[in-house]
Amino acid sequence: MGSKELDLKAEIRELLMALGVNAAEGPLRVHSPISGEEVASVAVHDAETVEATVGAAHAAFLLWRDVPAPRRGELVRLLGEELRAHKTALGRLVSIEVGKSVSEGLGEVQEMIDICDFAVGLSRQLYGLTIATERPDHRMMETWHPLGVTGIISAFNFPVAVWAWNAALALVCGNAIVWKPSEKAPISALAVQALLNRVLVQSGAPDGLAGLVIGGREVGEALVDDPRVPLVSATGSTEMGRKVGQRLAGRFGRAILELGGNNAAIVTPSADLDLALHGVAFAAMGTAGQRCTTLRRLFVHETIYDGFVARLKSVYASVSVGNPLVESNLVGPLIDGRALESMRHALETAAASGGVVTGGERVEIGGWPDAAYVRPAMVEMASQDGPVLQETFAPILYVMRYTHLADAIALNNAVSQGLSSSIFTTNMREAERFLSGRGSDCGIANVNIGTSGAEIGGAFGGEKETGGGRESGSDSWKAYMRRATNTINYGATLPLAQGVTFDV
Ligand code: NAD
Repeated sequence: MGSKELDLKAEIRELLMALGVNAAEGPLRVHSPISGEEVASVAVHDAETVEATVGAAHAAFLLWRDVPAPRRGELVRLLGEELRAHKTALGRLVSIEVGKSVSEGLGEVQEMIDICDFAVGLSRQLYGLTIATERPDHRMMETWHPLGVTGIISAFNFPVAVWAWNAALALVCGNAIVWKPSEKAPISALAVQALLNRVLVQSGAPDGLAGLVIGGREVGEALVDDPRVPLVSATGSTEMGRKVGQRLAGRFGRAILELGGNNAAIVTPSADLDLALHGVAFAAMGTAGQRCTTLRRLFVHETIYDGFVARLKSVYASVSVGNPLVESNLVGPLIDGRALESMRHALETAAASGGVVTGGERVEIGGWPDAAYVRPAMVEMASQDGPVLQETFAPILYVMRYTHLADAIALNNAVSQGLSSSIFTTNMREAERFLSGRGSDCGIANVNIGTSGAEIGGAFGGEKETGGGRESGSDSWKAYMRRATNTINYGATLPLAQGVTFDV
């Protein structure tokens, strides 16, 4: 499919119409990475609009926190239904706006539906504890209360799912939300907001409960600095998280930070090598290496290294790169020319330090000179240093050999990021050691699965420079609420804790 057959601009117009989006045009130019061409332009918001949006959200919060949680869950259930009804159109829009395969675009919307389902159940399970008290005729418990306006800042690569992880939980927890999507993916955000607006009206939710502000860093900063926003959940680069985290700390605001990863896998001699090959290929090349959980470092045992790496190279050579809207293409474009430049720079630096590079060339697709398609790259390195220690948001897999598992685990942990990790093994001792307290130091540690492709039931996030936040499943909801410890005396005397006396 070439440029003649594909009119992305017209398709976006049609999709927006189908999704009920009526957005004003403006100075923010949106390019589809599929062709590199401008496909839309949207209005941006200024600091005053952010202030007004947060103000409206705060007013809505004061009403929303009084709505019983299971009834708040009903709003999220309706959102899930709306997403089900528009899955195809929204998934397609995501694919066009950020260059994902059709299957991954749909998968992203499915993830939104899944978290809505999860949050609906959660709306009846916001449990606190009853705790043993040392005082007679007393009861101690903890209760969880709505927190306030939750700011959501999202990255380009999961332009809608990350919002849903936060929004669905925040809403059932009794919070209002204000979303600042990536300036590289405002259209998908406008579409999601249009779907949400319909269910907000349908369910009679307070006006202003869920706001959307479009723009770049300045708009994000205005949200981060607003004292009426007690919690900001920010997803993006470590560089962004360091700034946002410090600004929030300055006003004692809470942060959920979901930042860069530099994820590794270990392939041991006992591994099922066919399975490992599949796992490594999807994790390293899927989404053109633009997932926070993308596999970037691979440690292969020396006894299987040559055979396994030769097989991996032939997979790399045969994988089809091209227009992600064509089903047979497994690797789509990079988001833009800057991403291409950083990939090129990382490969040059790795080669200069002795790395042996396979792939990584730019590929011309569809007569689109402004699109940034590349063959995924593998780089065999003698040791882990230089660009291997950094996250380059592109499909580069650094491959190294190891002799002892303890060394491979130490290398897994010897980077500043701590998001995702895997081991491919059929040896129970190796698997358990990798998962133990002296194993992987990451927020996600898998066995016989690649580093990417988490499901929503578990808590998602990572350690160290990945930011420490947890989102999505398990008890991540607690970050969106405030905890109160309550002690109730139902006796007629006032015994003090720790045996303290104070007789008046
Ligand atoms: P980015 O850091 O450039 O931008 C992310 C968001 O932060 C955007 O909305 C941007 O406008 C905003 N922003 C940037 N600087 C800001 C500031 N000073 N104050 C407030 N807001 C600011 O990231 P990107 O290029 O969109 O996404 C790629 C990065 O995101 C990668 O590093 C990837 O690993 C990371 N990521 C992490 C996760 C995770 O869950 N850990 C998920 C997806 C992406």
